[in-house]
Amino acid sequence: MTDPTGINTLLAEMTLEEKCRMVVGQGPWIVDGCERLGVPEWTVSDGPVGVRGRAMGPGLLVPGPSAIAATWDVELVERIGDALAEECIDRRVDLLLGPTVNLHRSPRGGRHFESYSEDPELSSRIAVAYIQGVQSRGIGACVKHFVANDQEFERHTIDVHVDERALREIYLPPFEAAVLEADVRSVMGAYNFVNGHHGCAHPELLDAVLKREWGFDGFVVSDWGAVKETIGPALHGLDLEMPGPGAHWSKCRLQSAIEAGEVPESLLDDKVGRILRFLDWRHRIGTPTDHDEQSIEHPGHRDLASEAAAASIVLVKNEKQVLPLPSGVTVALIGPGAAETALLGGGSASLIPHHETNVLDALRSRLGEGAVTHAVGVDMHRNPAPIPAEWIDAGGIKVELFEGTEISGEPFFSEPVPAVFNIWFDDTWPEGIDTMSVRMQFAVTPPESGVYRVAGLGFALARLYVDGELVADSAIDPFTAGLGLHGGAGLVALQAGKSHEIVLEHRPRAIGFPVSMVDVRAELVIDDRESLLADAERVASAADIAVVVVGSSAEWESEGTDRTSIHLPNGQDELVERVRATNPRTVVVLNCGAPMLLPWLDDVPGVLLGWYPGQEGGEAIADVLLGEADPGGRMPTTWARHERDTPSYLHYPGEAGVVRYGEGIYVGYRWYDARGIEPLIPFGHGGSFTTFDWGQPTITGEGTDLAIEVPVNNTGERTGTEVVQIYVAPGEPPVHRPVKELAGFAKVTLNPGATATARIQLRDRSFARWDVAAHEWVVDSGAYTVVVGASATDTRHEVEVRIQ
Ligand code: BGC
Repeated sequence: MTDPTGINTLLAEMTLEEKCRMVVGQGPWIVDGCERLGVPEWTVSDGPVGVRGRAMGPGLLVPGPSAIAATWDVELVERIGDALAEECIDRRVDLLLGPTVNLHRSPRGGRHFESYSEDPELSSRIAVAYIQGVQSRGIGACVKHFVANDQEFERHTIDVHVDERALREIYLPPFEAAVLEADVRSVMGAYNFVNGHHGCAHPELLDAVLKREWGFDGFVVSDWGAVKETIGPALHGLDLEMPGPGAHWSKCRLQSAIEAGEVPESLLDDKVGRILRFLDWRHRIGTPTDHDEQSIEHPGHRDLASEAAAASIVLVKNEKQVLPLPSGVTVALIGPGAAETALLGGGSASLIPHHETNVLDALRSRLGEGAVTHAVGVDMHRNPAPIPAEWIDAGGIKVELFEGTEISGEPFFSEPVPAVFNIWFDDTWPEGIDTMSVRMQFAVTPPESGVYRVAGLGFALARLYVDGELVADSAIDPFTAGLGLHGGAGLVALQAGKSHEIVLEHRPRAIGFPVSMVDVRAELVIDDRESLLADAERVASAADIAVVVVGSSAEWESEGTDRTSIHLPNGQDELVERVRATNPRTVVVLNCGAPMLLPWLDDVPGVLLGWYPGQEGGEAIADVLLGEADPGGRMPTTWARHERDTPSYLHYPGEAGVVRYGEGIYVGYRWYDARGIEPLIPFGHGGSFTTFDWGQPTITGEGTDLAIEVPVNNTGERTGTEVVQIYVAPGEPPVHRPVKELAGFAKVTLNPGATATARIQLRDRSFARWDVAAHEWVVDSGAYTVVVGASATDTRHEVEVRIQ
C-alpha cells in the first residue's frame, strides 16, 4: 500500500498505549500527540463568536451568530471566518469550535442566539462561508452539535424523537453542507440522544450518514463531558473524547476494552488516522509544539466587526421616516441596553472582547453630550450583584477543599483566597484529585440595613448559610445563571454595621470533567421600579425623539438553561409603552439574540433589531440610527405574535426524558405558511433607508439547474443593501410539503440610482424532498413556482417552471 502522507507508517509504529493517548484530551483545550514520533500536542478553542485560546484572554468579538445570519452576506461571513483564523494563529489554536448550526426550533432555546436560523438553507450558506473563511488559513473548523441539539432543557439526557424526513430536510442539511461543500475538518457530537441513541455513539447518524454516506474523513469530537461510556462511542463514530483527562477513554479504559476484544483495534487506527490526517493538513507533524499564545488586536478587525454589526441590523419598521435621526435633534436615550449594551450571550460562546462599546457613549460622541439625555428606565439584571470588596470583614475569605462529593473529613486545602468568586479549572485544578467539594466562609458588614437577596452559586449543588441559617439551597429553590451555574437564592435581613457570617457549601455532580466554581452575590432589595420609569418619562418628554434600547443579556440568554419566557425580561414592555405614551416619536432598539414578543409594535413608529452585536455594536447601532450605515439585516427567523403560534409550542420541552419534534418539517415560516398564521415579523423581512425597484426576473438553464437573475435599482437617495430571496413552491403537491422553501438568495449593495443584477443559482436540492419510503432525495416531476421575494410574506414576482 502506498503511503504518501506517511500516516500509515506512523500508525504502524505507534504502540497501543500511544494510540489510545491520542484520542482523549489532556486538558480542557489540549490534545496529546506522540512526541516520540514527531506528532505534537495540539489545541482547540471556542468558538464561534471569537477565539478564547487556552488562556481565555481578550479577543475579537464578532456579532452573535443569529446576527451573523441576519447579514445574509456570505462574502462578509467568509471575511469574518478569515479574521477569526488570524486570531487562532496568534493563539496557537489548531481547531476552532464553531460554527454552531443547530436550528432555531423553539424561541426558548438558551443557545438560540448562538445558532444561525430557522431555515436550513440560510444556515448552510452562512456555515459554509464561515468554515471556508476559517479553513482558508489552514485552521480547522468544527461544526457543532451533531445533531438536533436545539434546547438546553435536560441537555445531557434528552432524547429527541425526530422523524426521518425532518432530520434530512431540516436538521441535517447545515452539517451536510459543512462536510460536502466546505470540507469541514471536524464535527462535534452532541450531548443529547436522537431517536434512542446518544449523539456521540450513533450507528445511524455518525457511522452510516456522516462517515459512509457523506464520506466525512475528518474526526468526530465529543461535546465537553458528553461521553457516557467506553464501548458504544468507540464502536459507533466518536474519534476523540474531550475534554481531558477524559472520563471514559482515559486511564487505560479504552486500551483495556481493545485488549479484551470488545473494540477492534482497527477502529482505534481509524480514529487516530483521522486525527493524524488533520494534523498533516495543518502541517503540524514534525513541527515542535509552541504554546506562547498571544492576544493581538489586528488592524482592520474593529472595522470588520463594525461593518458586520451594521450589516446585521434589521430595520423592522420605519413609519413617517422617524429614522435616520434628523440632524440637530435632542435625543432621550433610554433603557437598560443604552449604557450597558449587551454585546454577546452567555456560555461557552462568550469571551472577553478586545474592545467594548455601548450605544450611549457612541451617540454622545457623535451628537455631543448636551444633545443626548439618558435614563435607564428598568433594572434588567437577573442576578444579584457581586459583593463589593469593602463589605468583607478583615478576617478575609477562607476556602476549604475536600476530596469527594461530600464536605467531610479533613480538607486537603484550607487557605485564605483574595476574592469571593473562585474557579478551579485547567491549570488551577488540584493535581491528583478527581472530584472535590468546597466550603467558603467569610463575614460581611453591609453599609445599609434591609432585606437582601443573596445567592450562592456553583457548578452544582450549592447551599448558603447566613449567620448559621440556611437561606438558599439549589436543591429546593434552584437558581440558574447560565452555563451550569446552579445555585440557590433567598431573602435575608442584614443590619448595617453588623458583621454577618456567610458560609457556602458546594457539592459537585458528575459533569464529565474537572471544574469547580463558587460565588456568592448579595444585593439590597430596593423597590425603585416606579421611580426609574418616572425618570424615563421625564427624560423622554423633554427630548425631540426618544430611543429606547431594550432586550436581554447573557444573564437571560445562555447556554446551559433555556429561557423561562419570551417576553422582554423584567417588564421592559411597560417601559416602551410609557415612553411612547410620553413621546410619540419613539424608536425602539432591540438588543437581544432570540425572539421576543413585542406587544407595542403597532404603536411605535421605528424599530431596529440590533441583536448581540459584538464588540463594535454600540458604534454600529449609532451608525444606523444616524443613517451613516444602512441597516443591512433581514430576519433569519420568524418572530411570533404569541408564543402559542410558534411551531414547537405543543412539543417543547418534552416530558419523561423525551422531546418529540411533532411539528416535523414545519419549522419556522414553513409552519406559519402551512397554518395560515400571520407572524409578527416574517422570515426574511427588513427595510432600508433607501428604496429599490425590482425588475422582471429571467430564468435560464435546464432541468433543476436554473439560474435566476433579478435586476434591482436603487431609486432612493442613499446607498443601501437589498436581499433578493428565492423560494420554491410546489405547483400541485403530489405529497405534503411546505408551501414554499428558501432555495437561494443574493445581497446587493447599490449607490443611489445604480442597478445591479442579483443572480441566484438553483440546483437539484432546491426542488427535492426526502422520500421516506425510498430513503433518498427525490425530485417530483411537475410544475413549481419560483417565488422572488423580499421576505417569506412579501412576494415580488412568481415564475412557473416545469421539472421533468
Ligand atoms: C459546549 C460546546 C463547547 C464546549 C467547550 C460545551 O459546553 O456545548 O459548544 O464547544 O463546551 O467549551
